[in-house]
Amino acid sequence: MLSEFELIARYFSRPLAPDSRTALGVGDDCALMMPAPGMQLAISSDMLVSGRHFFPDADPLALGHKCLAVNLSDLAAMGAKPIAFTLALALPEADPEWLAPFANGMLALADRHGCELIGGDTTKGPLTISITVFGEVPSQQALRRDAARAGDDIWISGSLGDARLALAGYRNELTLSDHELLQAAPRMHEPTPRVELGIALRGIAHAAIDISDGLAGDLGHILQRSNLGATLDADALPPGNVLQQRELELRRRFTLNGGDDYELCFTAPVRLRHAVEKAAHAAGVEVARVGTMEHASGLRIVDAGGEPLQLELGSFDHFRS
Ligand code: ADP
Ligand code: MG
Repeated sequence: MLSEFELIARYFSRPLAPDSRTALGVGDDCALMMPAPGMQLAISSDMLVSGRHFFPDADPLALGHKCLAVNLSDLAAMGAKPIAFTLALALPEADPEWLAPFANGMLALADRHGCELIGGDTTKGPLTISITVFGEVPSQQALRRDAARAGDDIWISGSLGDARLALAGYRNELTLSDHELLQAAPRMHEPTPRVELGIALRGIAHAAIDISDGLAGDLGHILQRSNLGATLDADALPPGNVLQQRELELRRRFTLNGGDDYELCFTAPVRLRHAVEKAAHAAGVEVARVGTMEHASGLRIVDAGGEPLQLELGSFDHFRS
């Protein structure tokens, strides 16, 4: 059986990159970091608990990816560039068959974003994975939830709802063909954090949030913090490839309230539409314009013809975990 320190040394400590913002990484009482002059640190934590956020038998490679991805998604939603992260891990046992792929999935994504593992904590206990990420963003350029303005367009990156559709398949709420499940499952297990888009939107977008709990609820946070309302065109929301094939009612429900999408919802001035599209193109992701920020409070959801939709968003809750 691996000791705690062997485990950390084998799976979670690596040399720092030559251009690292980190002066001292894993192995001392603290890591030491050097934020660049003129930059603010963006810091966020997300915890994933077995049985709550993932199935206990989840594939460790995908799980390693997802744990870091959901954290990077928060940096993306601030327009911050990832620098480093810490990993606090409670493990039922020190099983190399689980640890090796878990570390690989996590560190492969970390390397893609130049985000270094600089410390953490390891203990025995029910499987729980808690990550804190550190990013940097030029002062005054973070994409805050409270910075939307009336008249702004509302935009969504990528597509929505396929992660929720996969979950519905696993839970037998809906019957999915093997092919559909195979297509939709990666959206649930291996989300892509929109880091490049977040950075490209600095100086263009006003407010942003990552869609982890469903668009309607998450956009609601922007409305509340910015003290505004909005009209959202339900039929402009981009459904995932698999959800696209399903009936209108389900498409509307899962794009509006699906959860686990990790796309960005952001607002930007109408005069910067072209700049938004250029930024998205440079970041390699599609964006769709789906609504407008308004002075009148509340979220109004309309169809393609502008007619109000009476969607009982509250009743979607029994689909949620
Ligand atoms: P302390 O007793 O001072 O809290 P620990 O013995 O918990 O330190 O950890 C030793 C070193 O290993 C520290 O630098 C810590 O940040 C790092 N560490 C512990 N667990 C992990 C982990 N899961 N991933 C990365 N680094 C870790
Ligand atoms: Mg110590």
